[in-house]
Amino acid sequence: MAPVVKTFDYLVIGGGSGGLASARRAAEFGKKCAVLEEARWGGTCVNVGCVPKKIMFNTAMHSEFIHDHKHYGFDVEVKGFSWGKVKAARDAYIKRLNGIYESNLEKSKVEKIVGHATFTDDGYVEVNGEKITAEHIMIATGGKPMVPSIPGGEHAITSDGFFELEDLPKKVVVVGAGYIAVELAGIFNALGSDTSICIRYDQVLRNFDGMISHTLTSELENSGMKVCRRTQVTKVTKESNGTLTLDLNTGGQMKDVNCLLWAIGRVPNTNNLGLEKVGIKTDSKGNIVVDEFQNTNVSKRYALGDVCGKALLTPVAIAAGRKLAHRLFDNKPDWKLDYDNIPTVVFSHPPIGTIGLTQEEAEQKYGAADIKIYSSTFVPMYYAMTEHKLKCSMKLICFKSQNEKVIGLFMLEQGCYEMLQGFFVAIVMGAVLPSLAPYFCSAPP
Ligand SMILES: Cc1cc2nc3c(=O)[nH]c(=O)nc-3n(C[C@H](O)[C@H](O)[C@H](O)COP(=O)(O)OP(=O)(O)OC[C@H]3O[C@@H](n4cnc5c(N)ncnc54)[C@H](O)[C@@H]3O)c2cc1C
Repeated sequence: MAPVVKTFDYLVIGGGSGGLASARRAAEFGKKCAVLEEARWGGTCVNVGCVPKKIMFNTAMHSEFIHDHKHYGFDVEVKGFSWGKVKAARDAYIKRLNGIYESNLEKSKVEKIVGHATFTDDGYVEVNGEKITAEHIMIATGGKPMVPSIPGGEHAITSDGFFELEDLPKKVVVVGAGYIAVELAGIFNALGSDTSICIRYDQVLRNFDGMISHTLTSELENSGMKVCRRTQVTKVTKESNGTLTLDLNTGGQMKDVNCLLWAIGRVPNTNNLGLEKVGIKTDSKGNIVVDEFQNTNVSKRYALGDVCGKALLTPVAIAAGRKLAHRLFDNKPDWKLDYDNIPTVVFSHPPIGTIGLTQEEAEQKYGAADIKIYSSTFVPMYYAMTEHKLKCSMKLICFKSQNEKVIGLFMLEQGCYEMLQGFFVAIVMGAVLPSLAPYFCSAPP
């Protein structure tokens, strides 16, 4: 049995968004902290999530704007696009970020331990053959992309593989209807790949407000993407020329595909963690079960972020991690993250901003008679000059009994990711319709 070599006040498993934020905040309170990480510092967001994705979204936006330059009087000739050049610069940027995250840990005096962590039968954490422990142990091991088991499925990539692509594929099929699927398909499409998205039902983003899923699905089609409804890939064959042939549940085939990407959901990183050895409960999907204070069922053992399967977003993991550190080490016994009204942006084309309840959820919660909807559709002035026109949509969900308090906001338009923060502050402060109404008229005041 490996000897116990180190003891900490706070031990965090997972050096991603939630783990790093929590450990550094705990260290501010003078606690002896350590973070265990088996891969790259920064976790999903920095390495294979938000950060590289936003760089690729920005790249795709350049491609869209270039086509508009001539309408604004510029005589611009596009001589080509180098995916490889963007990738090299993006990888270098991420490497710098990895280093910054690492040195931030050093500055905060949080001990870094590199290796795969597992719980042992006697309640310790084992890494690299050494046993360590702490009074408080927090699990923030995140998740990974789900992969279906179908014949030939190994020829496909996931969002992780998207960031390893060396070139822009000529013909791409993305399978999935969630936010990662529409974001990555939108990037391929804007950069010039022949792009199809295979969705299980009739619309993308089915968990979003109906206005969003309906409008985005038709905007994807307007942008030239093929939306293959009620379509699933059942078999993948790699041909001798390297392309893929996809058999579909519809009986048809897709041929000459250069890249097939699964974006069908994510699973928590809970296997190979030895949770069963210490009795930490998971649900049927493997997510760690926690209460509103991020407590697991085992005393002084906590979990947060993607590994809990709720609101899989970086700011959520960071905020939950910091709140937990305050609760444990800063005498703030009631601090916990409020999971209501989390502002969310989807970097689709066009992008989407959301806060609060969808119309469907609001009607279910308060009754349709007590809900009032305000919506507006308009063409922003940017498109006054361009051939391609994009309609923007906004929708406010208000609770009539409380002076039309705003309980949901949905926007689909260029730049909504910048606007959302301001609306978020207003909404969490209890904004009622009269205060937000001026922003929801379609003509200039
Ligand atoms: C393509 C994509 C785009 C995204 N875009 C956005 C976005 O725009 N905005 C947003 O808010 N969120 C986005 N997300 C989600 C966001 O990345 C996650 O919600 C966030 O990273 C979760 O943080 P976390 O701390 O829970 O886990 P992670 O950041 O995943 O960190 C977990 C860490 O634990 C490590 N680990 C796992 N098991 C062990 C072990 N046994 N021992 C040691 N280390 C271990 C992993 O290597 C990893 O570094 C995106 C995700 C993806 C995949």
